[in-house]
Amino acid sequence: MKKKIALITGISGQDGAYLAKFLLKKNYKIIGLERRSARYSNWRLERLNITNKITIEDVDIKEINNIIRIFSKYKIDEVYNLAAQSFVHSSFKNPIETSLTNSIGVLNFLEIIRNQNRKIKFYQASTSEMFGEHGKKSQDENTNFHPRSPYATSKTFAHYTVQNYRESYNLHAVSGILFNHESPLRGEEFITRKITLGLAKIYLGKQKILKVGNLYAKRDWGYAEDYIEAMWKMMQTKKPKDYVIATGKNYSVKNFINECTKVLNLETKWIGKGLNEKLINVKTKKNLIVIDKKFFRPAEVKNLKGNFNKAKKELIWKPKTNFKQLVKIMMLADLKLVNKGL
Ligand code: NDP
Ligand code: GDP
Repeated sequence: MKKKIALITGISGQDGAYLAKFLLKKNYKIIGLERRSARYSNWRLERLNITNKITIEDVDIKEINNIIRIFSKYKIDEVYNLAAQSFVHSSFKNPIETSLTNSIGVLNFLEIIRNQNRKIKFYQASTSEMFGEHGKKSQDENTNFHPRSPYATSKTFAHYTVQNYRESYNLHAVSGILFNHESPLRGEEFITRKITLGLAKIYLGKQKILKVGNLYAKRDWGYAEDYIEAMWKMMQTKKPKDYVIATGKNYSVKNFINECTKVLNLETKWIGKGLNEKLINVKTKKNLIVIDKKFFRPAEVKNLKGNFNKAKKELIWKPKTNFKQLVKIMMLADLKLVNKGL
C-alpha cells in the first residue's frame, strides 16, 4: 500500500518532533517544514533519533509561494500546522510577527488546499489561551473565547478561519484546542521547563537562583506525547470537528515548583508575600526561587482547566500521564541533562 504523506510545520518544535515520531511508527512519509536560522535547531529530532527519517524543507509559513512549491513537489495527504510564534510573553513584544505567522500562515495553507485539492486534510494547533478571561470553572468546545494576548488573538483568528473554510468549502479541516502540554523537549522559556531546568542546575551547583513571575496562575498541564495521538485521531474521523484536549485538572505554578522539590527530596519553605515571596532551602537558608516583575504579563490568564469529554467519547482519547508523573519525567530528564553538562 502507498505510504501516506504527512506535512508537519514546526517540525523543530516540541510537538513537531513527537508527532513525527508517532507518524513514523504509523508508516507515514514525513515532510517537515523548518525556517532557516543561524542557530542549529534540530536538537529535538536528534534526541528522538529520527532526524534521518524525515525530509526537511526550508519554508517560512508566511511565504505562500514557498508553500505552493512544497505542495507541487509532494502528494500530501495530511497537513499538521504546528508552526507558530508560540510564546505568550514574546507575543506582547512582537505582536505583528506573531500574527503574521499564527494567523496569515494558516490562511496560506487553507487557500492552497481550497484551490488545489480539497481532499488534503488540515490540522490546526489551536490553544486554551483563546479562552483567556472566561469566568467558567472549566472550558469546553462551547465556551466563549476572550483572548488576552496577541498570541491568543492570532490563534483565535486562525481557529475561526479553519471553521469557516470547513463550513464553506467542505474541507476536512479541524482544530485541536490543546491545553498546555509539556515534556523534556519543551522550550526553556516556558514555565515548567524553566523550573525543572533551573532547579536541576541549582541542585547540581551550576546556578544560584531562579527568577520567576506569577506563582498563582493555574494551568491544566498534560504530557505532550499523550496529546499527539489526539491530533492524529482528529484527522481520521468521518466528520471533521474541533476538540478540547486536556487532563481536566489544574495546578498553580507554585504547586509545580513544590512537586519538583519533592522529586529532588529538597527541604524547602515559602516565605514573604507578593513580590517578596521566595522559596528558601531550609538547611542552607539560601534563596532558591525569587519573584521578578519582568516575568509578569500586561494581561494574565489566571486559570485554565479543560473539559475533554467530547474527545473521550468521540475519539476514545484520554490522557495517560498525570501531573505528578509529568513533573517527575521532566525533573529527572533535566537532572540527567545538567549532570551530563549539556
Ligand atoms: P514550539 O514553539 O516548540 O514550536 C513551534 C515551531 O514553529 C518552532 O519550531 C518554530 O521554529 C516554528 N515557527 C515559528 N514561526 C515560524 C514561521 N514563520 N515559519 C515556519 N516555522 C515557524 O511549539 P510547540 O511544539 O509547543 O507547539 C506546537 C503548536 O501547538 C504551536 O502552534 C503552539 O502555538 C500550539 N500549542 C501549544 C501548546 C503547548 O502547550 N505546547 C498548547 C496549545 C497550543 P523556530 O525554531 O525557527 O522558531
Ligand atoms: P502559557 O500558558 O502558554 O503562557 O505558558 P507559560 O509556560 O509561558 O506560562 C504559564 C503560566 O506561568 C502563565 O500564567 C505565566 O504568567 C506563569 N509564569 C510565572 N512565572 C513565569 C515565568 O518566569 N516564565 C513563564 N514563561 N511563565 C511564568
